[in-house]
Amino acid sequence: MKFRTGTLYIKKMAHLYGRATSSSCLSCHQPDSQIHMLSGCQHASIQNMVTETFSERHNIASRLIIKTLSKGDFGGNIIFTDIGSETRMAQQSLVLPAHVASRTLPQWLLPNLSADKLRSCSRPDAICILPVGTKK
Ligand SMILES: [Zn+2]
Repeated sequence: MKFRTGTLYIKKMAHLYGRATSSSCLSCHQPDSQIHMLSGCQHASIQNMVTETFSERHNIASRLIIKTLSKGDFGGNIIFTDIGSETRMAQQSLVLPAHVASRTLPQWLLPNLSADKLRSCSRPDAICILPVGTKK
């Protein structure tokens, strides 16, 4: 909420109010801003925290969605997920059938990519193949 209202207390504001000697980020020494504080700081420790916090929150929400979809009419049509480890899925009582690829895109989907590229390329959270003519 403070981000939305522009009242997030950042180093730039502390400097403006005379409470800091510099307006730069303490971690990376780049100019501080709300965006910098929330996702722009490139310092390794901040990046790790941002990545872990937001990725896991994203994956928790994704697992809830996949869990719900897997119980529906087309649950068996889910063929791929990238929503965290099997351990994390099990913690949310999500067990997917063995045919569902996890984290590595199926080779048949992009046959021109090497196995390394399939593991490292950007991936959707999930792929569900629907029969032709199925309304969304
Ligand atoms: Zn920084």
